[in-house]
Amino acid sequence: MDERSLFAEYPFLPGAEALLGEESVSVRHLLEDPVYERARVIGRARVLASVDDPRGVRDVAELSQAHADVRFLSFLFARLVLSVAPSPASLRRWAVAEAKRSHARLAAAPVDELVEVARRLGYVLEPRAGSVTMSLSDYLKLAVPIREGEFRLARQELRRGEVALDPVRAARLLQEAVRIRLSAPVPVHADVVRLAREREADLLAEVARRTPLPVARTGVPGQALHPEWFPPCIRKMQRSLQAGENLSHAGRFALAAFLHRVGADFETIVDAYRGAPDFDESITRYQVEHITLRDQGMGYAVPECDTLRSHGLCAREGDPTATHEIDRASDPRCFDPKLRHPLQYYRWRGGQEVARGDEPPSEGPTTAGAPGGPEGRARGPSTGSR
Ligand code: SF4
Repeated sequence: MDERSLFAEYPFLPGAEALLGEESVSVRHLLEDPVYERARVIGRARVLASVDDPRGVRDVAELSQAHADVRFLSFLFARLVLSVAPSPASLRRWAVAEAKRSHARLAAAPVDELVEVARRLGYVLEPRAGSVTMSLSDYLKLAVPIREGEFRLARQELRRGEVALDPVRAARLLQEAVRIRLSAPVPVHADVVRLAREREADLLAEVARRTPLPVARTGVPGQALHPEWFPPCIRKMQRSLQAGENLSHAGRFALAAFLHRVGADFETIVDAYRGAPDFDESITRYQVEHITLRDQGMGYAVPECDTLRSHGLCAREGDPTATHEIDRASDPRCFDPKLRHPLQYYRWRGGQEVARGDEPPSEGPTTAGAPGGPEGRARGPSTGSR
């Protein structure tokens, strides 16, 4: 593959500005000059597609018809505008989407193309009989955030500090390398920030409208999280994930909604899924955002006990497989006819330590009111499904 074709496919690679040939495009020109209006139109479409679906599956129709230089400028424009957006969340979403877009190509690329993309991103892939190897330090840098079961270090073939990879897994690691690269904002002068925000105020407003800011600890502001008050069902869900066992979508959804409502911050909720056998960092972040940002940060309502029971998620009878006695025994609180909700249990356990006025919600709208319900659009995190 010649260099120009490589840059056309992977516009994030250092040196891709060679696509512009002798043309010199300043940031101001890119933002203002009518000559670049087409690049801006496509750039805006790229931005909005990623905001709507950071998994990168939404197509940008104009991209395939545009010349390589226009595609490249649209990429630069999108990156620039999102770098000056007030919230870093939109840049991160876009980075995920663009990385996924590249992955579609990388997953089918020949080994020498993977090797070249890796090299230009600052990683070394050594071809070896149809597959590749990567140094352990590079592997850890890229694989740790992924943490899908098959990327765990214990499952790797290690030889003299090198990890053996088939091309498919190498492509997935490069996707992560692209995401990391694009998640960092482009450093720009304050004048450019002002200009870009002014010129693209409508786009940024639309992005903000579609991407609410992640809000930490919206569940119970100012109150500490008390895992020791968690009801048996939630503790069992956590144990399942920690043990690398599968947890149903309904369970994953309930866990995220519960943790959010009791005040866990965003990262804590994401971390709860890291042991899942199909853990995918970007998908988990997207889904946790979806579950927690609804209704100005209130998030989806936690399913009631009856709902959890109907999904086989109630653990009030005790869990014979649990390590601790407290989890093996049945919990009398859960047999109290007044108990109808896991959040109610949490408050009961907190007793007087819970401030007055922090009554358990009437739990708000039920999950049945959520789009698609717990197994529809509000899927539990880490499904790995796209
Ligand atoms: S009774 Fe409710 S709170 Fe208790 S384990 Fe079952 S679902 Fe959870």
